[in-house]
Amino acid sequence: MQDPGKKISEIIDALSRPLVFASKDGFSRIGAVKGLEGLVARLCLEAISRNPPGEMGEKFGELIDLFTGFDSLGAAEKKEKVSRAMELVGSMTCRGEEKPLTVGASGDRGGRGGREARDNLEWLRTPVEHVKGVGPRLAERLEKKGIATVEDLLYFLPLRYEDRRRIKKIKELTPGANEVVSAEVMVAGEARYGRRKTYEMVVSDGSGHLRVKWFNFRASYMKRYKPGQRLIIFGNVTSFAHQLEMIHPDIELADDSDSAAASIHFGSIVPIYSQLENLHQKTIRKIVRNAVEGYAGCNVAGTPPSVRSGHGLLDLPEAIRQAHIPPEDAPADGEPFTASLSKKSLAFDELFLLELGLALKRANLKKEAGIRFFSKDGRPEELERGLRALLPFKLTGAQERTLDEIRKDMGSPHPMNRLIQGDVGSGKTVVSLISSLWAIGSGFQAAVMAPTEILAEQHYLTTHAYSDALGIRTVLLTGKMPKKTREEALGGIRDGTVDMVIGTHALIQKDVEFNSLGLAVVDEQHRFGVVQRAALKKKGFAPDPENPASPDVLIMTATPIPRTLSMTVFGDLDVSIIDELPPGRKPVKTRLLKEKDRIRAYGLIREELASGGQAYIVYPLVEESEELSLRDATNMKEHLAADVFSDFTVGLLHGRMKFAEKEAVMRAFKAREIDVLVSTTVIEVGVDVPNASVMLIENAERFGLAQLHQLRGRVGRGERTSVCLLMAAWTNSPDTYRRLKVMETTQDGFRIAEEDLKIRGPGDFIGSRQSGLPDFRIAGALADLSLLKKARKEAFDYLKKNPGLKGDEAATVKEVLKSRWAGRLELAEIG
Ligand code: ADP
Ligand code: MG
Repeated sequence: MQDPGKKISEIIDALSRPLVFASKDGFSRIGAVKGLEGLVARLCLEAISRNPPGEMGEKFGELIDLFTGFDSLGAAEKKEKVSRAMELVGSMTCRGEEKPLTVGASGDRGGRGGREARDNLEWLRTPVEHVKGVGPRLAERLEKKGIATVEDLLYFLPLRYEDRRRIKKIKELTPGANEVVSAEVMVAGEARYGRRKTYEMVVSDGSGHLRVKWFNFRASYMKRYKPGQRLIIFGNVTSFAHQLEMIHPDIELADDSDSAAASIHFGSIVPIYSQLENLHQKTIRKIVRNAVEGYAGCNVAGTPPSVRSGHGLLDLPEAIRQAHIPPEDAPADGEPFTASLSKKSLAFDELFLLELGLALKRANLKKEAGIRFFSKDGRPEELERGLRALLPFKLTGAQERTLDEIRKDMGSPHPMNRLIQGDVGSGKTVVSLISSLWAIGSGFQAAVMAPTEILAEQHYLTTHAYSDALGIRTVLLTGKMPKKTREEALGGIRDGTVDMVIGTHALIQKDVEFNSLGLAVVDEQHRFGVVQRAALKKKGFAPDPENPASPDVLIMTATPIPRTLSMTVFGDLDVSIIDELPPGRKPVKTRLLKEKDRIRAYGLIREELASGGQAYIVYPLVEESEELSLRDATNMKEHLAADVFSDFTVGLLHGRMKFAEKEAVMRAFKAREIDVLVSTTVIEVGVDVPNASVMLIENAERFGLAQLHQLRGRVGRGERTSVCLLMAAWTNSPDTYRRLKVMETTQDGFRIAEEDLKIRGPGDFIGSRQSGLPDFRIAGALADLSLLKKARKEAFDYLKKNPGLKGDEAATVKEVLKSRWAGRLELAEIG
């Protein structure tokens, strides 16, 4: 029996829509495309679960592979992947389509509250084209910017506000203040100051003259201003040679015939939106206003009224209204209007729904049946002892503590769902290996999923050296393996002769059937979404279909999440922290450099190379000018090879290279056939070349600290004392240098993460990092954690008081929750 749901052809449709969208305008906005990773994975898994005909199934599998880690890629890599995906999707035709499936009404649909909420949410999904003032052409332009529905438009919040309630006479203007005038153009045209061109106008309202200047302008745009025209001008008043001026003011044509519009654009506190295509502010303002007037009332809150009022928050329709139409009686003096209560209310709602979703997942996990590992015969312990005897080192206290925690979980009848956070090099692998041995010793299989082939192979090489000695059969499973080897591995996994599998996404493909998967380990989890994690888990052990037991899941990440946050963003996981590095690690000496130090930096690298070391030189990929920075890496490689390190071998590694090329380069670097590896950030995760002892990071100011820390972790892995040089381009922000200085003073990933958190706010962590969570529209901009903590407490309390989410009020909450988590909660089945 199949789930009620989509036909495969519908899934293909659903897949192609975002791809087409991402490719529009020659991929010019691809850098901004987010969330594809989770979406593609979800749709493909859904398709695979419907048993598509042969080749098609493989294509869905390839699509999942293709989009792993997609959201964190640069624009060029995204473009490459989307193009390939379009080919794949394009080549899928749905011959032999299965019978149409009935879209079934299943279970409790909630009473009146639920139905109302569902209707409202449906209204929010109205295509933007139906909003008053939006025609098909405009709709298409909006869609390009990711505004496809009424809801998107409602959540297109203003960047800022201007108090235009009082239009001043020019003679009343105060230099230094932000003011609005309504005046007529007297003269307009280009002017010159020496070699510098400006565009200037003189305007008058009868009370005086005002000069308006642009130092940057597009002549063609300026043509719109003509003498005799009436303008509304908003800007900062300055005085120059006894003349009042405004430099680069905001201008709108005061169209007298449109008096209804006038109150939207002037005479009130006016919202200013970020530029959309080249739409005029007035147009944006008008259509958003229409959307608010038509639909704000449908914006159902997920936070129950009782909770909302306890925190003095607005209902969601009112919050949206106030964000776009500030109250007229906002205080005039002092702070400019910021819509802070409205934004806080919107943010709280998002966070509440996030936490409620996590709370539900957690609650469901506690109910699930799991495996109680550790048999009486002592085999698990025997294997562990065997391994410990083989290890050339003693485990650190932090490793032992983590193992104790895992042991407790594995010994309990509920499935483990534990995250291990440990800095690069903290020794997570051996912890996962011992856990695997426990599972194997208890008569189950263990699987380790790594995000890339390189990492999977690395893992495999380390592991099987030990497992062979212990009489454990380990196999590698990747997508690129020769067919015969792969078939063999699959056979062993199916019949249970294989105890342990290490692989990539290949592990969650349809043809992989485990005999008795007991423990699933997911390495470097930030590269995987919640969806893939769940998919691996679904491969789990189910010896008795009447009484299925879920396997234990262990997730490992080297991206430290600040302690203050991890409980919150990983609400559904238990967390162990390995906060101690093995003894004897030499810290990586880190120096922040500026352009003038370049010669010295090259000198230092040459010395390292001369004494047998190897070097990385890393260039950032910046989304806006990604072509350019790729060229940077390529050009710099040429330059470095020819002029700076001509007596050494210089290699190049970047994300656009074919997999085989990348691997060849990595192998050559590992084998010391390459001395200097010029690279983009593709080396970030897990690459292990102990002889590499110096890293130069160009444009360090463009990286987040956490990412710098990850990169730096590629050196300092061997005997040699290692150095990391951070080359910062000139910036006039002292904060940038202060931030980078943190890297000089600490090697502690958690401290660095805390610093990052202070600087960038929690949005970055809960938003983009953790793919698989709902997208954040508001909370991403939050500067502090207190709201998140409050939302978490309320959500967990609410679920405790109302465990089944029953009744009218909860039915509403449930509907909004489902819509917001859009399928991602199916993993938690909210019932
Ligand atoms: P990561 O946590 O980054 O995955 P690994 O598990 O790859 O780190 O470990 C990094 C290196 O440290 C490996 O070479 C591993 O053998 C070694 N190692 C792990 N634990 C210890 C320990 N307790 N003492 C010394 N070396 C260790
Ligand atoms: Mg590792």
